Amino acid sequence: MNINTGAVLVLSGPSGAGKSTLLNEVINDIGECYFSISTTTRSIREGESDGVHYHFVSEKEFKQDIEEDMFLEYAHVHGNYYGTSIKPVKNALKAGKLVIFDIDVQGNAVVTNRLGDITTSVFISPPTLSELKHRLEARKTDSKEVIERRVQMAKKEIQRICEYDFLIVNDSLEIAANVLRDIAKAARLKIPGNEINEFTYNWEDID
Ligand code: 5GP
Repeated sequence: MNINTGAVLVLSGPSGAGKSTLLNEVINDIGECYFSISTTTRSIREGESDGVHYHFVSEKEFKQDIEEDMFLEYAHVHGNYYGTSIKPVKNALKAGKLVIFDIDVQGNAVVTNRLGDITTSVFISPPTLSELKHRLEARKTDSKEVIERRVQMAKKEIQRICEYDFLIVNDSLEIAANVLRDIAKAARLKIPGNEINEFTYNWEDID
């Protein structure tokens, strides 16, 4: 069992897949977690707060953070920058927490590359493209053009599901939440390479 190090759970999926709703549904059942609050240059939506949903910054500030090597990963998504600050993640891992990221497919590729042996990745998808479009329209937070951009982006993202450990089709919230709960619990138990080596080394305790 992974007891010394924290673990990482990556959640990706098109905007409108229901990632936040799903996560809210399970967050109280999966032990000590740290939800990574990303930094973004996109404008704040109605109902969002700075420092809660994102750290909202200007493009100049974001580029400065890139230069200062502040990000574990960052990406250009839907015409805006999004990035994961490294420091709070390191602290949460040191405290043995399950660190949860809501990041896109590009971010998952970097995180898996950098923290692969403690990372479990999950792609969350609505059942169909038309259902995704319907949900984005019902949300009433984005213009027609933005929705169209997100739909086109989703078509590309879907092609990369094979890079993930798990796929959750978010049709019934209850079923999807049950699956996510199980995956999050298992993610904590993933054993990092150094702990496996240590166990193997100590295991042979007789000649
Ligand atoms: P939204 O604008 O709908 O909040 O997010 C748009 C997309 O950006 C989503 O797919 C979300 O997962 C992704 N995203 C949010 N934060 C980050 C981040 O820090 N890094 C990366 N690579 N993607 C992010």
